[in-house]
Amino acid sequence: MSLTSYPVSFIAADDAANPCLSCGACCAHFRVSFYCGEVAGPNGGTVPADMVTQLSPLRVCMKGTERGGGRCIALRGQLGRPGIRCAIYEDRPTPCREFDVWMPDGSPNPDCQRLRLALGLPALDRRPEAENDPQGPAPSHPKAA
Ligand code: SF4
Ligand code: SF4
Repeated sequence: MSLTSYPVSFIAADDAANPCLSCGACCAHFRVSFYCGEVAGPNGGTVPADMVTQLSPLRVCMKGTERGGGRCIALRGQLGRPGIRCAIYEDRPTPCREFDVWMPDGSPNPDCQRLRLALGLPALDRRPEAENDPQGPAPSHPKAA
Protein backbone atom coordinates (compact mmCIF):
# COMPACT_ATOMS: atom_id res chain seq x y z
CA MET A 1 0.00 0.00 0.00
CA SER A 2 1.39 3.35 -0.96
CA LEU A 3 1.36 6.03 1.66
CA THR A 4 2.43 8.71 -0.74
CA SER A 5 -0.51 8.88 -3.13
CA TYR A 6 -3.30 11.21 -2.40
CA PRO A 7 -7.09 11.62 -2.19
CA VAL A 8 -9.61 12.95 -3.56
CA SER A 9 -11.73 14.80 -6.09
CA PHE A 10 -15.28 15.06 -4.79
CA ILE A 11 -16.01 17.44 -7.60
CA ALA A 12 -17.93 17.57 -10.86
CA ALA A 13 -21.29 18.36 -12.20
CA ASP A 14 -23.43 15.35 -11.31
CA ASP A 15 -23.33 11.86 -9.89
CA ALA A 16 -22.79 10.25 -13.29
CA ALA A 17 -19.77 12.42 -13.97
CA ASN A 18 -18.52 12.21 -10.41
CA PRO A 19 -18.00 8.69 -9.09
CA CYS A 20 -16.64 10.12 -5.82
CA LEU A 21 -20.18 10.92 -4.74
CA SER A 22 -20.78 7.28 -3.90
CA CYS A 23 -17.26 6.10 -3.16
CA GLY A 24 -14.84 7.73 -0.67
CA ALA A 25 -12.39 4.83 -0.85
CA CYS A 26 -9.25 6.94 -1.12
CA CYS A 27 -10.21 8.91 2.00
CA ALA A 28 -10.07 5.68 3.96
CA HIS A 29 -6.90 4.26 2.46
CA PHE A 30 -3.96 6.65 2.10
CA ARG A 31 -2.06 8.56 4.70
CA VAL A 32 -3.08 12.10 3.83
CA SER A 33 0.02 14.07 4.78
CA PHE A 34 0.97 17.62 3.88
CA TYR A 35 2.96 20.70 4.86
CA CYS A 36 1.94 22.16 8.20
CA GLY A 37 1.47 25.59 6.61
CA GLU A 38 -1.84 24.33 5.22
CA VAL A 39 -3.27 24.12 8.73
CA ALA A 40 -5.59 27.00 9.64
CA GLY A 41 -3.83 29.70 11.59
CA PRO A 42 -1.53 32.67 11.17
CA ASN A 43 0.09 31.15 8.07
CA GLY A 44 -3.16 31.41 6.16
CA GLY A 45 -3.87 27.70 5.97
CA THR A 46 -7.37 26.27 5.78
CA VAL A 47 -7.39 22.77 7.26
CA PRO A 48 -8.90 22.78 10.77
CA ALA A 49 -6.14 22.32 13.33
CA ASP A 50 -8.18 19.89 15.40
CA MET A 51 -8.39 17.53 12.42
CA VAL A 52 -4.66 16.97 11.97
CA THR A 53 -1.92 14.96 13.64
CA GLN A 54 1.63 16.32 13.77
CA LEU A 55 4.01 13.90 12.05
CA SER A 56 7.22 15.91 12.18
CA PRO A 57 8.14 19.55 12.72
CA LEU A 58 6.88 20.46 9.24
CA ARG A 59 4.45 17.68 8.33
CA VAL A 60 0.95 16.84 9.49
CA CYS A 61 -1.66 14.38 8.33
CA MET A 62 -5.41 14.14 8.54
CA LYS A 63 -6.44 12.41 11.75
CA GLY A 64 -7.40 8.82 11.18
CA THR A 65 -5.00 8.37 8.28
CA GLU A 66 -1.75 8.21 10.25
CA ARG A 67 -0.89 4.63 9.41
CA GLY A 68 -2.75 4.23 6.15
CA GLY A 69 -5.86 2.12 5.85
CA GLY A 70 -7.72 4.38 8.26
CA ARG A 71 -10.64 6.64 7.65
CA CYS A 72 -10.07 10.40 7.53
CA ILE A 73 -11.75 12.29 10.34
CA ALA A 74 -13.42 14.61 7.82
CA LEU A 75 -15.14 11.85 5.87
CA ARG A 76 -18.91 11.68 6.40
CA GLY A 77 -21.24 8.93 5.31
CA GLN A 78 -20.87 5.29 4.44
CA LEU A 79 -18.07 4.12 2.18
CA GLY A 80 -19.28 3.11 -1.24
CA ARG A 81 -22.74 4.53 -0.68
CA PRO A 82 -24.43 7.62 -2.10
CA GLY A 83 -24.04 10.64 0.13
CA ILE A 84 -20.45 10.06 1.18
CA ARG A 85 -18.75 13.41 1.44
CA CYS A 86 -15.91 15.51 2.77
CA ALA A 87 -16.91 17.75 5.66
CA ILE A 88 -14.14 20.23 4.86
CA TYR A 89 -14.30 20.13 1.09
CA GLU A 90 -13.57 23.83 0.58
CA ASP A 91 -10.73 23.68 3.11
CA ARG A 92 -9.25 20.29 2.26
CA PRO A 93 -5.48 19.97 1.94
CA THR A 94 -3.43 19.85 -1.24
CA PRO A 95 -3.13 16.07 -1.59
CA CYS A 96 -6.91 15.80 -1.67
CA ARG A 97 -7.06 18.44 -4.39
CA GLU A 98 -4.46 16.71 -6.51
CA PHE A 99 -5.81 13.16 -6.53
CA ASP A 100 -8.06 12.92 -9.55
CA VAL A 101 -10.39 10.21 -10.77
CA TRP A 102 -9.01 10.46 -14.27
CA MET A 103 -5.58 10.89 -15.73
CA PRO A 104 -4.89 13.84 -18.07
CA ASP A 105 -5.56 11.62 -21.11
CA GLY A 106 -9.01 10.72 -19.77
CA SER A 107 -8.14 7.20 -18.67
CA PRO A 108 -9.10 6.14 -15.14
CA ASN A 109 -6.57 6.76 -12.40
CA PRO A 110 -5.27 3.23 -11.71
CA ASP A 111 -5.04 3.84 -7.94
CA CYS A 112 -8.61 5.05 -7.90
CA GLN A 113 -9.71 2.07 -9.98
CA ARG A 114 -8.00 -0.38 -7.66
CA LEU A 115 -9.55 1.11 -4.53
CA ARG A 116 -13.01 1.15 -6.06
CA LEU A 117 -12.78 -2.48 -7.07
CA ALA A 118 -11.60 -3.43 -3.58
CA LEU A 119 -14.71 -1.73 -2.22
CA GLY A 120 -16.93 -3.69 -4.60
CA LEU A 121 -17.72 -0.67 -6.76
CA PRO A 122 -17.87 -0.87 -10.56
CA ALA A 123 -14.76 -0.15 -12.58
CA LEU A 124 -14.50 3.32 -14.00
CA ASP A 125 -14.84 4.10 -17.68
CA ARG A 126 -12.88 6.75 -19.44
CA ARG A 127 -13.81 10.28 -18.47
CA PRO A 128 -17.04 11.34 -20.19
CA GLU A 129 -16.27 13.15 -23.42
CA ALA A 130 -18.04 16.31 -22.30
CA GLU A 131 -15.68 16.50 -19.38
CA ASN A 132 -12.70 16.27 -21.74
CA ASP A 133 -13.80 19.37 -23.58
CA PRO A 134 -11.91 22.33 -22.18
CA GLN A 135 -14.99 24.41 -22.95
CA GLY A 136 -17.32 21.80 -21.52
CA PRO A 137 -18.96 21.57 -18.12
CA ALA A 138 -16.81 22.60 -15.23
CA PRO A 139 -17.18 21.34 -11.67
CA SER A 140 -19.97 23.40 -10.25
CA HIS A 141 -21.02 22.07 -6.93
CA PRO A 142 -18.33 20.73 -4.69
CA LYS A 143 -19.26 17.91 -2.44
CA ALA A 144 -19.36 20.13 0.56
CA ALA A 145 -20.65 19.26 4.00
S1 SF4 B 1 -11.21 6.35 -4.92
FE1 SF4 B 1 -11.52 7.54 -6.78
S2 SF4 B 1 -13.76 7.55 -7.13
FE2 SF4 B 1 -13.37 6.93 -5.00
S3 SF4 B 1 -13.54 8.87 -3.86
FE3 SF4 B 1 -11.36 8.52 -4.34
S4 SF4 B 1 -11.02 9.66 -6.26
FE4 SF4 B 1 -13.24 9.41 -6.01
S1 SF4 C 1 -9.93 15.90 3.97
FE1 SF4 C 1 -11.76 15.36 2.83
S2 SF4 C 1 -11.04 14.85 0.77
FE2 SF4 C 1 -9.26 14.79 2.15
S3 SF4 C 1 -9.07 12.64 2.83
FE3 SF4 C 1 -10.31 13.73 4.34
S4 SF4 C 1 -12.44 13.39 3.69
FE4 SF4 C 1 -11.11 12.92 1.95
